[in-house]
Amino acid sequence: MKLSLMPSWVNEKMKKTIIYICCLLVGLLPLSLLATEALAIKEVAPGVFVHQGQHKDVDEGYQGDICNIGFIVGKTSVAVIDTGGSESIGDALLAEIHKKTDLPIRYVINTHVHLDHIYGNVAFIKEGADFIGHKNLPDAMRIRKEFYEKTNQKYLNIPPDKTIQVFPNILIEESKSIEIDLGARPIKITAYPLAHTNTDVTVEDLNTSTLWTGDLLFIERTPVIDGDIHGFIKVLNSLMDMKFNLLIPGHGTPTQETKLAWEKIRHYLIVLRDGIRTSIDQGQDLQTAINVVARMEYSKWLLFDIQNARNINMIYPKMEWE
Ligand SMILES: [Zn+2]
Repeated sequence: MKLSLMPSWVNEKMKKTIIYICCLLVGLLPLSLLATEALAIKEVAPGVFVHQGQHKDVDEGYQGDICNIGFIVGKTSVAVIDTGGSESIGDALLAEIHKKTDLPIRYVINTHVHLDHIYGNVAFIKEGADFIGHKNLPDAMRIRKEFYEKTNQKYLNIPPDKTIQVFPNILIEESKSIEIDLGARPIKITAYPLAHTNTDVTVEDLNTSTLWTGDLLFIERTPVIDGDIHGFIKVLNSLMDMKFNLLIPGHGTPTQETKLAWEKIRHYLIVLRDGIRTSIDQGQDLQTAINVVARMEYSKWLLFDIQNARNINMIYPKMEWE
């Protein structure tokens, strides 16, 4: 007699299918547990903690944890910089903060409107934090609400009524800075004109000369342009003139090689801008431009094809009118 875990009426083909489905489920298990797992956090400068998101595209394998999020601890309080793409990522970040300090979380700063950076905000409401962002952030969040709800439903399985937007209550005017103090730890937050988006802010920890750049800087991953390429290059030019010890990009590994990092992204943007200009001047249509522009940058960046195509798709129609 042959021993089997499966009933006798299950034939070979059915057995294979059952085994295949079981393997699939086991394979998927870590994904579903991801949100509740502890976040890997690194102290990149004294009192400055970063969790690095994975390099995944929003349209391919998005799991809500693709950007850099983290916090700065002062003598009396804590500031959070970006909160991740969902409440569960926000909760996981909050849990990591509580492991490091008992100090109150006084501020949550959003570097810009993109969904992977803001939907963890809701986890910090109970902390009584003030939320800080660009003057344009509330409107930008409202405009994108429906699209972001659909994305969260599709990839994170979060129903629209659970995709909760938490708006900033402290707004920074364009081209202005404000300073907050975490207790012997002044933090300067600056809002920019239209660049990566129309909602970009940077966060500078003055004690360590660390700049959280938001998505004004990408490292490893192909830069995203969702605002204005000329404005983006202009802002990069101004940031390159300033001195920082450490840059924490919106995506990628924090770096002390500040000049190299700024130059690499600026170079891509210039190649992209000039390539689109040439393409338009030569009468190439949008699809041809997508096929040819900035190809020489391909090997330097992750997720290049999908993001470079999106960038061209965004910039080309605008530059046609210039
Ligand atoms: Zn981002």
